[in-house]
Amino acid sequence: MGRATSGRVLRPDAFADRLSSVSLGDLAARGIAGIIVDLDNTLVGYGREELSPADAAWIAEALARGFRVCLVSNNFTGRVERVSAELGVPAIPSALKPLPRAFVQALRVLGTPKRATIVVGDQLFTDVLGAKLVGLRSILTKPLEHRDWLGTRVLRLLERLVLGAGRGA
Ligand SMILES: [Mg+2]
Repeated sequence: MGRATSGRVLRPDAFADRLSSVSLGDLAARGIAGIIVDLDNTLVGYGREELSPADAAWIAEALARGFRVCLVSNNFTGRVERVSAELGVPAIPSALKPLPRAFVQALRVLGTPKRATIVVGDQLFTDVLGAKLVGLRSILTKPLEHRDWLGTRVLRLLERLVLGAGRGA
């Protein structure tokens, strides 16, 4: 994780190639106890059912280390529940990110204070902006796949304009 750049609404606190490349030791050292994880293109490729083994292992390792984990997804299909059951972590579907409601709900589910909770996701305008609106730190990952819902593809064009060459640096 890089230095926090507070005050920049559309700037994540850190970038990561993917969920499983986020250092759990680093999160613990920064006082993080609760992790809110996006689903599509962060944990599972868009429209897919199967978890990548590395990312499923990362969630298992996080739980084993005592982190609390909650999935928060704008997706409203049964996939959210299936992945949640497979990983053994709670999930909030139909989240309407970046609106604060689901993040606030996730904080209650996790039982962790804002300062000890981080959001990990692949989208600037849902995951990172939503985290900032609620006062949470965030890590922006690269999307697992380039296939996306149409609305998301439009947002990605805007992301590139906002982030420039900074993403993934
Ligand atoms: Mg996503």
